[in-house]
Amino acid sequence: MLEFIDSQLSSWPLARANYQALGKTERRSFEIGDLRVGVQFNPARIVSTGARIDAVSLAARPCFLCSENRPPEQTPVDIVEGWQLLLNPYPIFPTHFTIASSVHRPQEGIPLDMVEMAEKLPGMTVFFNGRHAGASCPDHLHCQAVMTHELPLMCLIEERHKLLSSETSGMRVATAVDLGLDSPVGFVSVIVTPDMDGMRQLARIEETIGKKYIEEGLVNIFVWKDSVGILRIVGVPRKAHRPSSYGTGIGQYLVSPGSIDMAGVIITPRRDDFESLTIDDIRRIYSEVGI
Ligand SMILES: [Zn+2]
Repeated sequence: MLEFIDSQLSSWPLARANYQALGKTERRSFEIGDLRVGVQFNPARIVSTGARIDAVSLAARPCFLCSENRPPEQTPVDIVEGWQLLLNPYPIFPTHFTIASSVHRPQEGIPLDMVEMAEKLPGMTVFFNGRHAGASCPDHLHCQAVMTHELPLMCLIEERHKLLSSETSGMRVATAVDLGLDSPVGFVSVIVTPDMDGMRQLARIEETIGKKYIEEGLVNIFVWKDSVGILRIVGVPRKAHRPSSYGTGIGQYLVSPGSIDMAGVIITPRRDDFESLTIDDIRRIYSEVGI
């Protein structure tokens, strides 16, 4: 994968500039309960945070995930049948992929192929933004992948939700409350032991989280193999796509939470927002968009 990133960066000036800029991004951090939340100043992400995602705007623009509209430099890698792994030209982390469906179809349901993607991408978390939970391209089915260690929520869950030595088989489900965590983000964590069918367990997240969240696209899903090779699935149900404070006016913030924000890294494309966000603002954002 490093070779793939290097070759993309050497032939694609826009991506190279954005990955180089990432080295200079500023970050603040806040301890909110048990979660260490980072706030990243990332001006290039305005393309996603400020994206117009109403039906009229979507219909009026060429879909940037369809192969015919992609930049000529963006080379796909066939990772799992029916999916193409692409370097995300507007990264949040030094390794940031978009995994797009080979065909143009809407961001609906949960792609069960995320399990196979996670198996192909060791050390990485594959995640999915429901169409009303951070997806900036809700008309073309896609997932993303970043290194697991970049995501505070995944690290916290690995640390606090463990299989007991007596538990050798099965699926273990726990919420933040079950784990005794003071987390500003509500979630359901599932551990799937190697003898279980990971895709079937991912399909069952609908029952665990509640069908309405999946049907309405109000969910973020994370799938990864943890440090000891056990498959993990985390679902974050959502109340809303954007907080009431979303905007560019006085007292408003350009923060549009997707999976990465819900996993503990809030992206602010504007310097004013980056500098002025307080711990109370962050708590409020999480409580307005999460459960
Ligand atoms: Zn498309």
